[in-house]
Amino acid sequence: MNSPSPTLPVVVIGGGVVGSALLYTLAHRGVDAVLLEAESALGLAASGTNSGVLHTGFDSTPGELETELILRAARIRPAILDALGVPVIHCGAELVPHTDEDAETVAALTAGATANGVQVEIRESDGALLVPGESVSDPVAFTAALAASAVAAGARVELDARVAALTPGEDAIVVETTDGPSIRAAAVVNAAGLHADDVARLIGDDSFEIYPRKGEFFVFELPDGATLDRIILPVPTKRTKGVLVFPTLDGRVIAGPTAVDLDDKDDWTVRAEARDEILAKAVAQFPALDGLEPIASYAGLRPAGRGSNYVIGSSEKDARLINVAAIRSTGLTASLGIADHVAELLPAIGIEVGPLQPPTPTAPVPVASTPWWRRTAEHRGVLPGAVAGEDQPS
Ligand SMILES: Cc1cc2nc3c(=O)[nH]c(=O)nc-3n(C[C@H](O)[C@H](O)[C@H](O)COP(=O)(O)OP(=O)(O)OC[C@H]3O[C@@H](n4cnc5c(N)ncnc54)[C@H](O)[C@@H]3O)c2cc1C
Repeated sequence: MNSPSPTLPVVVIGGGVVGSALLYTLAHRGVDAVLLEAESALGLAASGTNSGVLHTGFDSTPGELETELILRAARIRPAILDALGVPVIHCGAELVPHTDEDAETVAALTAGATANGVQVEIRESDGALLVPGESVSDPVAFTAALAASAVAAGARVELDARVAALTPGEDAIVVETTDGPSIRAAAVVNAAGLHADDVARLIGDDSFEIYPRKGEFFVFELPDGATLDRIILPVPTKRTKGVLVFPTLDGRVIAGPTAVDLDDKDDWTVRAEARDEILAKAVAQFPALDGLEPIASYAGLRPAGRGSNYVIGSSEKDARLINVAAIRSTGLTASLGIADHVAELLPAIGIEVGPLQPPTPTAPVPVASTPWWRRTAEHRGVLPGAVAGEDQPS
């Protein structure tokens, strides 16, 4: 009879930025772990199709877990990104009020920012709220660098490894992928983004539901090599942070996103009507876009919880499965804070966790031949360079 394979302390399911930050943190806190990613590369879902903004938490609701983890990440992230050579544009953001209601919102945001300990300023000339700490990164390079540093510290990443079954046993949960061998794990962390509810259901946990909230973007090139020197944020409404305009590391300008609730977790297309929805708002905020044709469009699917947000903790069906789900809008920013928080949940289920060690150096982040904002669209078969309404698959 074959003896059972050894039990690994932790299996992480999902190689988005949250799973990659978890793997990074575990590897640098002395916990042996493997990450299983269904796709052929990391960061091809929400983590590769977002705005790339590293939020300060100036507009996050004081006291919520999401806010706490954004602020926690802010304390850890700069040194790690710096050591790993992840590029960041430290450009700051501005929100310009246009109505009395906007001015009231800016006043409320200022109070919230102060409660969160985030530095903001009011520009006297127009009452604009300035947030110097807001920055923009390359979310794919960010995700890849965390995973690479984890691997250099001894962790493993398995691609094309879709988790299809979880079988709880006395000493371990057996994790089975569609093609590979099964792995025995003392703990499993479910960071499967849009599919985190499907993964939780593998052990009968149907306590939360994830649906896609689509966000569509348009990419521009300014004439004469001009760039944008800041993030332009709209004054937000209750439902959405609205359409922002921001610079990318490759010198482009992006406007978006929309917020469209869907059921289909595989619909990565850009709707024809998105162009008008975005462009009017973007031009109002940044008139230099007026008359420019976008060079590309892409869509991301936020892993939104139905009636929930930041679902983080042991499953009610088996404490050894830790769900890290419904990380809808701020996961890039908060990922390292989320990971630190999850690491602290592990001792309660018998896994020893050490203090966080400095990052393990890796080769410098290579300059990708395809900019991150084009990569996922290409992978999903949404034509590169396609602009909504032209050449999009139906
Ligand atoms: C339009 C938009 C704009 C955004 N803007 C920002 C922003 O500016 N700043 C910010 O901080 N955040 C932003 N976000 C939010 C951020 O992108 C998400 O919070 C974050 O990417 C979630 O990461 P994740 O790892 O949980 O999920 P994902 O990135 O979706 O990763 C989950 C991974 O799990 C894998 N997976 C699924 N099922 C299985 C399985 N059975 N087995 C193995 N692997 C599996 C998937 O293939 C995927 O790679 C935005 C999101 C969107 C969509």
